[in-house]
Amino acid sequence: MTLLRRHLGVILAGILCATGLPFAAPPAADAASGVSRVSDIRAWTNEIYTRVAIDTGEEVSWQANTLRAEPARGLPPRIFIDIRGAGIQDEILRTPVEVRNGLLRQVRVGRFDRETVRVVIDLERESTYRVFALPGPFRIIVDIDGEGEIPVPPLPPADSTVPAATTAIPPPVESPRVAALQPAPIRKHPVRVMIDPGHGGKDPGAIGPTGLKEKDVVLEIGRKIREKLSRSGEFDVRMTRDEDVFIPLEERTAMANKGRADIFVSLHINASRNGRAEGFSTYVLSRGASNREDLELAARENGVPIRRFQGVKFIIDDMFTGARKNESLRLAKTVNDAVVRHVSTRYPGVHTLGLKQAPFYVLVGARMTAVLVEASFISNAREESRLRDPSCLDGIADGVVEAIRYYGQNGILAYSDY
Ligand SMILES: [Zn+2]
Repeated sequence: MTLLRRHLGVILAGILCATGLPFAAPPAADAASGVSRVSDIRAWTNEIYTRVAIDTGEEVSWQANTLRAEPARGLPPRIFIDIRGAGIQDEILRTPVEVRNGLLRQVRVGRFDRETVRVVIDLERESTYRVFALPGPFRIIVDIDGEGEIPVPPLPPADSTVPAATTAIPPPVESPRVAALQPAPIRKHPVRVMIDPGHGGKDPGAIGPTGLKEKDVVLEIGRKIREKLSRSGEFDVRMTRDEDVFIPLEERTAMANKGRADIFVSLHINASRNGRAEGFSTYVLSRGASNREDLELAARENGVPIRRFQGVKFIIDDMFTGARKNESLRLAKTVNDAVVRHVSTRYPGVHTLGLKQAPFYVLVGARMTAVLVEASFISNAREESRLRDPSCLDGIADGVVEAIRYYGQNGILAYSDY
């Protein structure tokens, strides 16, 4: 990887900007008012991956670009993001985020001109990158790929615009073509699993008719999964949260990427205005949703009002997410089948909604096989009461564990060569 693929970043920059092209939107607030301002720069990084999040609170117009290294001036390759009409917090001006890990040197912020704040990411070497924005609160995300190549090129990704109902499940891993291309490597580390209990802290998630909170249920399920999966020693299991704390969605993905997880499982409980809605479903990331319910679900899980969520063109066609899509579909199907089977042994009449696709922010940019489980409806009185029963939560955890075990042995993992 010697050339900076500037075009990739430039083409993708701003696609998620809800109002269209970068700089097309009027600033949400002028710099003087201080309403819209760069209030924090957050970074997660290892030597092959970096995610930088720039918090502006209100929506701003922005543009990303790159500069090549200038050895004569001692300047490294740089990615810069210009933010129009935003103020800036003084501490951020004074304190660059220093990293120096072989991929990222530092992130610094300055006033480029009276109207523009410039965030500069100094790289240690030229790298592929992409930039997008997430609303509510507004933040600009920069994902930097220090490898420039897909670690494991599996089957071509499925067309993510195909509605979930018609999505074909990819062929099993034993198919001769895959076997020929991908001789099973000898693993040098246990399969790394990142379990992500959704919501937490100030974000309770969905709340049932008698007050049961999604954030508490999914944390309990996550702990059970970790406990069961860790017993054999074959898995290195981590959790994005192990207590009642709020963690932004982009940080959860970054934690999985930074930790080089092979498998990412985000845990949620569904909800609907229709109190009779019921059943288990497991999702993979797609640009859009095949029906209104799935779009509403994704908007709620993303913490974005549905009116702002519609029309957002979602980018998932980065190389990692695209390359992992078939694997994610396979794991999602395995998880959903196993969860329904395990819960069914304890309760009669368990419904399945099956494998589905929707634009969940928490799955965007995941470099590994990544799925999101919606383990029944907390808005349904019967399912809520079931979710209060530890034996039901055990059933859900047993299903996820069984699926991860199967997938760990049969799937194409993201970091099998490490
Ligand atoms: Zn949720």
